[in-house]
Amino acid sequence: MTELIQSMQPVCYSIVPKNPAAHLFEVTLTVAEPDPAGQRFLLPVWIPGSYMIREFARNIVTLQAFNAAGRKVAIEKIDKHAWQAAPVDGPIMLRYEVYAWDMSVRAAHLDDTIGFFNGTSVFLAVEGQAGAPCIVDIEPPPGGAYRNWRVATALPEARGTKRYGFGAYEAANYDELADHPVTLGEFALGGFTAHGVKHDIVISGRVVNLDMNRLAADLKRVCEAQIALFEPRTKKAPVDRYVFVTVAVGDGYGGLEHRASTALICNRTDLPVQGRPETTEGYRTYLGLCSHEYFHTWNVKRIKPAAFAPYDLSQENYTTLLWLFEGFTSYYDDLMLVRSGLITVGDYFNLLGKTIGGVLRGTGRLKQSVAQSSFDAWVKYYRADENAPNEIVSYYQKGSLVALAFDLSIRAQTDNRNKSLDDVMRLLWQRYGRDFYHGKPRGILEEDVEALFAEATGADLRWLFRDGVRGTRDLPLDALFEPFGIALAPDLLGNGAALKPSLGARVRGGADCTLAVVHEGSAAQKAGLSAGDVLVAIDGLRVTGSNLDGLLSRYLPGAKVEVHAFRRDELRCTEVKLDAPEVARYVLTAIDGRGLSKQWRERWLKG
Ligand SMILES: [Zn+2]
Repeated sequence: MTELIQSMQPVCYSIVPKNPAAHLFEVTLTVAEPDPAGQRFLLPVWIPGSYMIREFARNIVTLQAFNAAGRKVAIEKIDKHAWQAAPVDGPIMLRYEVYAWDMSVRAAHLDDTIGFFNGTSVFLAVEGQAGAPCIVDIEPPPGGAYRNWRVATALPEARGTKRYGFGAYEAANYDELADHPVTLGEFALGGFTAHGVKHDIVISGRVVNLDMNRLAADLKRVCEAQIALFEPRTKKAPVDRYVFVTVAVGDGYGGLEHRASTALICNRTDLPVQGRPETTEGYRTYLGLCSHEYFHTWNVKRIKPAAFAPYDLSQENYTTLLWLFEGFTSYYDDLMLVRSGLITVGDYFNLLGKTIGGVLRGTGRLKQSVAQSSFDAWVKYYRADENAPNEIVSYYQKGSLVALAFDLSIRAQTDNRNKSLDDVMRLLWQRYGRDFYHGKPRGILEEDVEALFAEATGADLRWLFRDGVRGTRDLPLDALFEPFGIALAPDLLGNGAALKPSLGARVRGGADCTLAVVHEGSAAQKAGLSAGDVLVAIDGLRVTGSNLDGLLSRYLPGAKVEVHAFRRDELRCTEVKLDAPEVARYVLTAIDGRGLSKQWRERWLKG
């Protein structure tokens, strides 16, 4: 959007969680100098970081406009996300309600236990004044029941507002306002300093015996490792203050990156318990999520594809580079955990083995490159259906393996000069990221990426761009791991369940055995079974979501079994010739024999 009218008068918002039981926020918006020809207002249709059109305007319930005298001004909806007000003398004020019942990190939610909103869901943008400063007055819900509620956000407080208090907050422009989610409610507070910068931890949701001290100590290590990666000399963090905001729920997982904070959802059982020093799988997952979103503080919130500089919040923003922004971030999230000593090398190898298995399982990887997957994220990855594994490749999972391949290849080619993928990230940071919010908002063009990698490392990576980024050939992981003394093998041994023959389908667990995915060319597909079919019996024995593995484990691969299944309400019977066991994951084993491999491996995993 080009700014023709640059108003210096601030755009003023106020937001109040007016009716938690009805999940309604009330927002007022005052524009001191509206367009004399009639002001236009817009709500974003998507939120950066989550590449899907979500039509947030569908949650605007009522909307009215007034002039300075309090008289109604005509305003009409002109398309799915825009409103046009009639010309008015002096300021114009809008008042509207937003329905907020989305317990995710992407939209807005309000009930009597928590309030949460992203600016993209609740704050209409004023056309032509996107560059104007914004003031937001955040008010408490009415009534004494909410007297212990506080406000958590990385938005700077206006004068007179206490940290975590209700009151006025400021943003330099609409883009900044939209990039600072706000959480309201009662929450546990912790924090730490990482290389001189204050980091706050906010945990809302009911968590018994939360070990906040451990969480703070662990996150500090991850954050310091990442700051040192990007700024090894100065150790300068990219922010003045950072806030990790987590909502702990019974069953949930997700995160969204922002320039100075992240909004996360996790299982309350993932969080560390006082007096229990072990690292559970859930906690490892949670730390990985925190590490991922924190890495985005550099990679995608400051180093950006040109298509995101600036974002156009009114439509899809196409880029073929999400493999670089999501895939590389996914590579570094767990790598930073092992480098900072929070997980063991064995843990890290297990995580890599799972990712490799996940990527190699779907035939979609042979049809779509990570560049194409990035471009089509809006209609494919984010709208994945039952055919996704046969049709698309994840720019997260495959993208993280592409990053691994770049890293190992650069290290192997430049052993004498000690180059690595870290040098690529640092050059991206110096050239595009460091000054992004300091007057140089420039994104990287797709055609410049390959040259930048070569400049940063001196390595020949053309084959990897051709085959791994733009192509669909499987990555030569065996050969890439070899100089690092790592052997890769499918996980068939040591686990009896892994030897069971397979239908070649993914099943939703539970009382019914419903096929969620039928893999291309699999036994199930050849026998005419489809996603959505409910299996009821195998060779005359009742099958459920939980006993399928047990039933199949009695057979050998190649055996023929009679399967009864419902499609819609019609019973069908088919013979299935069972497939060989599926490889769900791979095992990485360190095998040191020759001199340098151990040294190379340690240098890679220790940073
Ligand atoms: Zn991400």
